[in-house]
Amino acid sequence: MTTANNIDRLALLARLRQHVVAMLGLHLPNLAGTQERMGQVRTTAWIGLVVGSTFAVFNLLTPGMAMLGLVELLAVLFLLLPSVVLAQQADWVEPAELLMLLAALVIFSGLIVLGGVEGTGLYWTYTAPFLAFFLKGQKQGWWYSLGFAALWALYFALGGPDLDFAYHYLPTTRVHFLLALLFYTLLAAHFNLLRSRFEEKLAQRVEEKTADAKRLLTQMQYLATHDQTTGLPNRTLMMELLPQEINTAQAGGHRLVVCNLRLERLFEFGNVLGLAGADSVVKQVASHLSQFAHGHGLLARGRRDEFTLTYRLDQAELNAESLGRFIAKHQFSVQEQGMSLYIELTLGLAIYPDHCTKADLLLKKAEQALLQARKNAQRWSIYDEQQDQQFLRHHQLFGKLRDALQSQQLSMHFQPQIDLQTGRVKGAEALVRWNDPVDGMIPPGAFIPVAEESGLIRPLTIWVLAESMRECARWHRAGLDLDISINLSAMNLMDPELPDALQAALTETGLNPACVNLEITESCFMASPQRALEVVQKIHESGFKLSIDDFGTGYSSLSYLKSMPIDELKIDQSFVLKLLDEVGDQAIVSSTIALAHNFGLQVVAEGIEDEATALWLRTHGCDIGQGYTYAKPLPPSHFVAFVRAQGTLRQP
Ligand code: C2E
Ligand code: MG
Ligand code: MG
Repeated sequence: MTTANNIDRLALLARLRQHVVAMLGLHLPNLAGTQERMGQVRTTAWIGLVVGSTFAVFNLLTPGMAMLGLVELLAVLFLLLPSVVLAQQADWVEPAELLMLLAALVIFSGLIVLGGVEGTGLYWTYTAPFLAFFLKGQKQGWWYSLGFAALWALYFALGGPDLDFAYHYLPTTRVHFLLALLFYTLLAAHFNLLRSRFEEKLAQRVEEKTADAKRLLTQMQYLATHDQTTGLPNRTLMMELLPQEINTAQAGGHRLVVCNLRLERLFEFGNVLGLAGADSVVKQVASHLSQFAHGHGLLARGRRDEFTLTYRLDQAELNAESLGRFIAKHQFSVQEQGMSLYIELTLGLAIYPDHCTKADLLLKKAEQALLQARKNAQRWSIYDEQQDQQFLRHHQLFGKLRDALQSQQLSMHFQPQIDLQTGRVKGAEALVRWNDPVDGMIPPGAFIPVAEESGLIRPLTIWVLAESMRECARWHRAGLDLDISINLSAMNLMDPELPDALQAALTETGLNPACVNLEITESCFMASPQRALEVVQKIHESGFKLSIDDFGTGYSSLSYLKSMPIDELKIDQSFVLKLLDEVGDQAIVSSTIALAHNFGLQVVAEGIEDEATALWLRTHGCDIGQGYTYAKPLPPSHFVAFVRAQGTLRQP
């Protein structure tokens, strides 16, 4: 019972306290932020301090006003000064306001009771309602203002002005004063209402704008870190998340596979299904892979057709090899626009900690592994340091080759081609050489593939053509009637401008195109047979001769022999080098000679390293021979000397 009573009493006290606090305006919600209010209160307090002190000094020095001066001085010292100090702190703004208001009330009370100069003190007190509303807000403002008016009404009613020390106001003055006070209260309330409404609206707008900005920021952050089609994290986010994945794997003592996956044929899907269809395929693949990654790692989308998957190897029986094999062999298809599309993925894997421990490097190595897989036409590949080095060398070589082309580090060597029946030099094959100032002689087998991959093969071939044809023209001018054989790459036959380049070289050198033999390989017709055929036709129509180099090593069928305007077959050196020891090679070579002759073509055998092989070839009807037994590829001056020593002049 007593406890219940105590609780009731405590609740009552708490309510009472709440009322008092609310009435005094100690906990008013601030419309303006504390920072803004702090500034306002501080300025008002300073103004109060300066005005209050001036009046205090003025009144203290004026005869008969010392009492008022004293009241003002006390209010300044004990209320306004602390108010200025408190207003410097955000947490003490409200007490500072209260002190300021109390100071005003004390000074105003002094002014009213003591009258000031001829009772004019009353005029100053009209600012009380403005101050109350300004400092305490609308609700509290009413309380303070009306309380202030009521206090003086009571003072007048109880005959305060009749006291000895008080100023004696006329009854009409008292009524005027109270009416004026009520009028100013109304005015202050009205202005404050307008002000607070404006502030309220302002605060509301600020709140709305802040919410908008926050929403926009969240949206932007999402867009910057996610792929829009699949909703998966993008590469940026993956870069942030991967270190955490590595930490988790490390803490659990597991290896972590970072797998770069390429969705093959996405471009074709886009062509057939349209962009939206291709996006839908990507989404379905993403959802399939997400299920696979679920609980084991993360999935992110990199470039348009690439995903990155991380997978913790936390099961003893699973290793990176089996994972790669599993994903690559795990076939699935997706349904789109009524079609069932078979999905093919190519994978590159890098492993933490085997290949490296840093997130960005792991991702890079997984990308390298994917490149390796694609280059080697494999479905999946684990990062291989050696291949990577090779890749790097290729890149470096590319940069150097570009410079070499410009700085004349390339030169042409010429290997004699001998008429096997007469023993005379019939011509030469032009073979490019690269003499690097640092690395020395770089063989064409090392840089021609780089040139082909990088597109440098085009300027390189144009240079080779011009240089070789110029040299051939010099031989002719020197009375040496020789042909020249020049190698073309498969990519050159894709170049529709090649016939023009050839024509330009002819015009410059004045050579007869029948002396120029262009060597192409069977692989030239593999990528785009129709286009290659068109270029070959044009070259043939210009009068150039055409030769099939490395014959017998390509994959194409023999059918092109009847449809292509060819003049010569060059039997690959792999059949010639061990010709006398290999019965199989002899069968191939003799059949090739017969085949070529049946088509009316000339036959060249390359890689003749000894006299016996040369003899075998001659007796089997081979027309031309080329190989170390006659001469290695020679620089121009050596070649001319060789020819002069051998004798070349053709029968007229
Ligand atoms: P290829 O056109 O089949 O050239 C024949 C290669 O066999 C040359 O190698 C030559 O030095 C070599 N060879 C000649 N006789 C013998 C011999 O008796 N024994 C042995 N073991 N080898 C012999 P090289 O100069 O290193 O050229 C390699 C390949 O690089 C060429 O094969 C050709 O495919 C390519 N190549 C060379 N120069 C050029 C060029 O200017 N343009 C293009 N596109 N390819 C070129
Ligand atoms: Mg050749
Ligand atoms: Mg060859």
